[in-house]
Amino acid sequence: MVDPRSLLRLRPEGLWCPEGDFYIDPVRPVERALITHGHSDHARSGHGAVLATRETLDIMAIRYGENFAGTTEEAPLGKTQAIGGVRVTFHPAGHVLGSAQIAIEKNGARVVASGDYKRERDPTCLPFEVIPCDVFITEATFGLPVFNHPAASTEIHRLLDSMRQFPERTHIVGAYALGKAQRVIALAREAGYTDTIYLHGALIRLCDYYTEQGIDLGPLEPATSNSAPPAGALVIAPPSAVDDRWSRRFADPLASFASGWMRIRQRAKQRGVELPLIISDHADWDDLLLTIRETGAEEVWVTHGREEALVRWCEINGITAKPLHLAGYEDEAE
Ligand SMILES: [Zn+2]
Repeated sequence: MVDPRSLLRLRPEGLWCPEGDFYIDPVRPVERALITHGHSDHARSGHGAVLATRETLDIMAIRYGENFAGTTEEAPLGKTQAIGGVRVTFHPAGHVLGSAQIAIEKNGARVVASGDYKRERDPTCLPFEVIPCDVFITEATFGLPVFNHPAASTEIHRLLDSMRQFPERTHIVGAYALGKAQRVIALAREAGYTDTIYLHGALIRLCDYYTEQGIDLGPLEPATSNSAPPAGALVIAPPSAVDDRWSRRFADPLASFASGWMRIRQRAKQRGVELPLIISDHADWDDLLLTIRETGAEEVWVTHGREEALVRWCEINGITAKPLHLAGYEDEAE
């Protein structure tokens, strides 16, 4: 039996698999990278070879241009391939379109690097799959008990209620360009909102891509100055644009922000957010615990976030755990 802990090692570039000589989501350019998803702190340009799902490769090409890596190879979900001395399989992570967990196996030992993930249903991507493993590598973006996300559909109803209550105010929702923006739009459609939704320019290419992939986002228009949205419209913009000069052109703008961080009232206040929506593409505390339990892992490595509380919880529950102090991953505007 191989020691599963020997399958991945921490190097300055990121998590490295000695037997396969590849990195997972490296933060510096490397010869061979396996990428979990298209968010910019995980998917960087300049690697020699990149293995990722087709959607992640497409998203990287949209963000960085076609030549973002020397060579690229698609990793179909659920299909196992040998790389050096290990077997590698990508599985859905439920985080954003194309997001994957990466399972690495050798002689019955299995490590799963989950990247970023969530358990809540999301109409814009495949649901997370629990992969039984010996070592589970989990994020901890919202790794504190205070983070208990309400149902995203409840939050979207709060948005639509506000739009009915203030029909003359333009509701501007700040949402991360990859994943969150499209999820907010798809949830509004599910809740019965059929009017045109207006987009900040930075969101257009990714929304178009989601639509091309068969995700129904309904009628969308760019929110440009020559086609200003009518008063009372719904506008989606990157979080940085909401309290910026950009948003002041709209009729009586009402600033909203869709993020797990909106659980913290003070953060909403600091940003001048009038309507905080707690919608996150990351697992909340209860879902982190549920997922760790369901994998059956004997050992858990905790990355980017509030590692300490989750490590402590594992120890109390008889699971060996350690923080992986990976540098270079940021809190996304999640
Ligand atoms: Zn992410």
